[in-house]
Amino acid sequence: MNKTIILQKPISDIRLNKEQVRSIEKRWIKEIKKINSSSRKKYTIHDGPPYANGKIHLGHAINKIIKDITIRKKIFLGYKIRYLPGWDCHGLPIEIAVGSNKSNNEYKSYVQSQIKEQLSGFSELGCINDWKNYYMTMDSSVAKREVKALFKLIKKKKIFTKKKKIDFCSKCNSTLSEFEIEKEKINTLIKMDMLKLSDKKYILINKKNNWGIVTLLKNNSILKVGKLVKIRNIKNLTNSKRIKIRITKIIKKCNRHNTRTKILKVRQIYLNTYLEKLPKKNIKFFPKSTKLKFINSVFNRPLWCISRQRTWGTPIPIFYNKNKILESKKIKELVTENLHNWKKINLSKKYSKFKKCNDITDVWLDSGLTHYSVLKNKNFKEVSFPADLYLEGKDQHRGWFNASYITSMLLNKASPFKNLVTHGFAVDHYGSKMSKSKGNSIHPIELINKYGIENFRFYIATSNYFNDISFSNEKIKNKIFLIKKIKNIFRFIVTNLKDFKEVNIKLKNSLLIDRYLLFKLEELKKKVIEEDRKFRYYKSFEIIYKFLNVVLSNLYISSIKDRLYILRKESKTRRFCQKTLKIILKDLLIIVSPYIPYTSDMLFRLAFNKSILFERIKKRKVNFTKEEKKIIKKTIEIRKKFNSIKENNKERKLLKIYVNLRKKHISKLSQELIYFLHNYKNIIIHSKKLKLKLKDANIHLKCNRCWNFVSFLNKDICERCLLITSGKKISERVFF
Ligand SMILES: [Zn+2]
Ligand SMILES: [Zn+2]
Repeated sequence: MNKTIILQKPISDIRLNKEQVRSIEKRWIKEIKKINSSSRKKYTIHDGPPYANGKIHLGHAINKIIKDITIRKKIFLGYKIRYLPGWDCHGLPIEIAVGSNKSNNEYKSYVQSQIKEQLSGFSELGCINDWKNYYMTMDSSVAKREVKALFKLIKKKKIFTKKKKIDFCSKCNSTLSEFEIEKEKINTLIKMDMLKLSDKKYILINKKNNWGIVTLLKNNSILKVGKLVKIRNIKNLTNSKRIKIRITKIIKKCNRHNTRTKILKVRQIYLNTYLEKLPKKNIKFFPKSTKLKFINSVFNRPLWCISRQRTWGTPIPIFYNKNKILESKKIKELVTENLHNWKKINLSKKYSKFKKCNDITDVWLDSGLTHYSVLKNKNFKEVSFPADLYLEGKDQHRGWFNASYITSMLLNKASPFKNLVTHGFAVDHYGSKMSKSKGNSIHPIELINKYGIENFRFYIATSNYFNDISFSNEKIKNKIFLIKKIKNIFRFIVTNLKDFKEVNIKLKNSLLIDRYLLFKLEELKKKVIEEDRKFRYYKSFEIIYKFLNVVLSNLYISSIKDRLYILRKESKTRRFCQKTLKIILKDLLIIVSPYIPYTSDMLFRLAFNKSILFERIKKRKVNFTKEEKKIIKKTIEIRKKFNSIKENNKERKLLKIYVNLRKKHISKLSQELIYFLHNYKNIIIHSKKLKLKLKDANIHLKCNRCWNFVSFLNKDICERCLLITSGKKISERVFF
């Protein structure tokens, strides 16, 4: 008898081995190339270049994966992508690693080996971009444009030289910029003289600089700090007592060496970072709270010392005499033609007072100027200025975001980005920063090998990355079960679409519940796009998951099994349901794809025999009237009540469910309810005082085919099953 039930053999569990992962990734790169060479509108993401030294860490993984999710989401909205990964190549750590005063080629080949190693890590992250193309700040075309930008800034009188007190680290053997300094509050004791004026009034005097602080003291604690008063005759103070006072002092430390900086007064090259205007309204900040942080970092920035007395870096090709910088078209031409020319250039005797600058630029200028040296560089067709998006970790408010914005405002009078997204750091289970010395750091590749790339990405994609993301085995395992649940829902749908033939199915004639699902699907897409616009990918996922779990699985799938398994294959009611499932499957695979790109790629090919990346999220018009909404709402309410009392109704007594109902809805409702409450086929819908009564009339026999309870069986099966399996023509429309 079971032969007449339509049970498809479930598609196999979706698990990917490493070979499959690699082959999907290879195909992605071909596909994105095709997309990017199409006539779609473009979306530019500029990659803040990581430093080309050392192993990659979880912070890198968070950054690259969120960028990749953004790229995938934009592709499904119909964009092509302008994105070129980059590396920051100059600077002291590399000079220290290779050794001082080596040749540029020696530094270069070290940097290249570092990039190669980091690349092999990045290429494990399942990103869609082609890692073969990237920019480096040591590229000659990039460095040349940086120098061109320097000349422009000199012309705009934004660069000057000055003897000025500056922070110096003796371990770095170099001056330090604001980015390289960590400020720390320390408590320290200072000796002061205390002079009694009256019972409550004392004066504290610091003899070193002759200031006295008028203070009220009680029980040795300061009640109120008064005005600073200059004491003239400090020697004449009598009646004074030496005391120690605790004060808070701010000290500066080199953030590389954690050593206190020295103050030196030397001539250096500065960039005047003063900006007249606040960031324009057209920059959007995500999360919103970062706007103030950004504005503060830009407007509280002191002069920027851009010169370093080191070897490995971009030269500052200027001659200066005290405060005067020599401007020469000839020098500019020679140097921007070939940076190596700078070493050969010497001035004639006429300019003997001018000194050649042998310094190199601060690395933050290298990366900060990439909006000019990379985005506006004709060699990189992959990108363009301004970028739609800069997306980096929260430390970049003082770093790359700041340096980029200021230099772009000075050079272009425009922000280099339209959207600024800030993400948190990777922290351990307890929220502590990961570090080698603490022994709590986890390598991303270690997690990928353990959980698989899909699960690893999923964990990051569904975390609120505006905050720090905490990593631990426990937390990752807790999330993986969500993927399993999603996979099972998709497997069910794909399996039950195996025999689907799309002939003559007009959804406007389908059941209310089918159209309701499609209506909810449109609602879902709209909400997801809205959250994505705010870069709140974790919120989008919450909304998607709720739909999958509550609407699709608990409401729909649980009510359609009778239609899918029991009815005749070609039954319209069954085909309506399959058509609805097919539409839902397609849209859902697309919107969930940035979170589980491998699984959705495989399922999409299985179900639709084409590649998912070329798809777009499209609006579909679904007519669903207010009246229909009311009916479906009531249906869901009745179903909920029904399910809760069914459990306690083992003897199959009369069921009474009371709902407030309008008379005109009753007939439509009874049609819909049949599919929800199919275990109670002989329901009497009885409207009395606008209330609904479901009567389970004397039914206690279980049909061997459909497992429904009925009052009469023919051999082992019910009348309905008898008719379905008979081959006779069936006239009833909905139920069959
Ligand atoms: Zn240092
Ligand atoms: Zn039956």
